[in-house]
Amino acid sequence: MSLTTLENYYLPDSGRDVVELLQEYGERAMILAGGSFVHGLAARDLLFGIDVFIDIQKLGLTDITVASEGLQIGAMVRFAELAKAPEIQADPGWGAVRDALSYPPVQIMNAATVGGSIAAVCPYFDLPTAWLAIGGKVTAEGIAGSKEISLKDFSTSLFESSLGPDEFLTGLTLPQPAPGSTSAFIKLETNANDLAIVNVAVQFILDPSGVCQSVRVALGGGVNERPLRSASAEKLLTGQKLTDALLKEAGEAIEADISPMADHRATAEYRSAMACVLTERALHRAIARLTRRS
Ligand SMILES: Cc1cc2nc3c(=O)[nH]c(=O)nc-3n(C[C@H](O)[C@H](O)[C@H](O)COP(=O)(O)OP(=O)(O)OC[C@H]3O[C@@H](n4cnc5c(N)ncnc54)[C@H](O)[C@@H]3O)c2cc1C
Repeated sequence: MSLTTLENYYLPDSGRDVVELLQEYGERAMILAGGSFVHGLAARDLLFGIDVFIDIQKLGLTDITVASEGLQIGAMVRFAELAKAPEIQADPGWGAVRDALSYPPVQIMNAATVGGSIAAVCPYFDLPTAWLAIGGKVTAEGIAGSKEISLKDFSTSLFESSLGPDEFLTGLTLPQPAPGSTSAFIKLETNANDLAIVNVAVQFILDPSGVCQSVRVALGGGVNERPLRSASAEKLLTGQKLTDALLKEAGEAIEADISPMADHRATAEYRSAMACVLTERALHRAIARLTRRS
């Protein structure tokens, strides 16, 4: 399928027009943002039943602003722009986002959008795992107006989201990390341009005595049909001093919460074993970042 046939290509300049097009064409329509994922689907002939593209590049949605609820990131902000944002550059609490943005190749950094990384609901992407560890919500616009959806409720199953048929994403809000926060992300991949075999992101708050006040441990990359948080690891770490032995135990604890997939990249057993190792390493990396303040 060609993405350039003018009869099936729309370039609306308002959110209302996008919603009306989604209403009119229903499941035949697909939003086009950076196009990096859609292009891959088209090249593999996987755009089943799609014959209308709604390009949202004229809507703007490219601002990154600091608000009382946290950092508001427009859905059309490209990865490269986010990586340059001063707000996320220094604070250890944003470390997982910086780490995740260090993996995509430059072409993807320049094309891929924050909204596309979420709306594709691909369990192998890296950024969604980082978003889940940082917490927050997305904003969606539809015929009934705009609404917020918590990131943890956004993905409902493999490639499925809680967006309604007439809704699209306009932005992402991530809470400003609390004092004492730190975070980190690690990806295991077969080569530099490949999707993750496993990825892990953690964010936690340490009080001045080194006790973990709260923690999020998020995993993706095929450890489940959608990125998830490990309640077992989080329970183990909360309220405790983070010793090397405890970090190892927390790494092992995630196994109770995942249901790894098997594919041409890795067996389920390998994914499971690596998810444990990467969780422990991500926790260590986040602690090191707090002492380095970077
Ligand atoms: C070679 C290559 C390397 C990659 N490496 C990495 C990596 O290292 N780490 C990583 O995390 N990811 C990686 N990716 C995946 C990349 O993150 C996604 O392709 C990208 O985030 C998708 O964003 P996009 O703007 O291009 O979306 P598009 O391709 O335009 O759209 C993706 C999907 O989301 C929908 N959509 C897009 N925006 C919206 C919106 N605002 N509202 C509702 N629906 C919307 C589209 O309809 C489509 O279903 C890689 C991809 C490629 C091709």
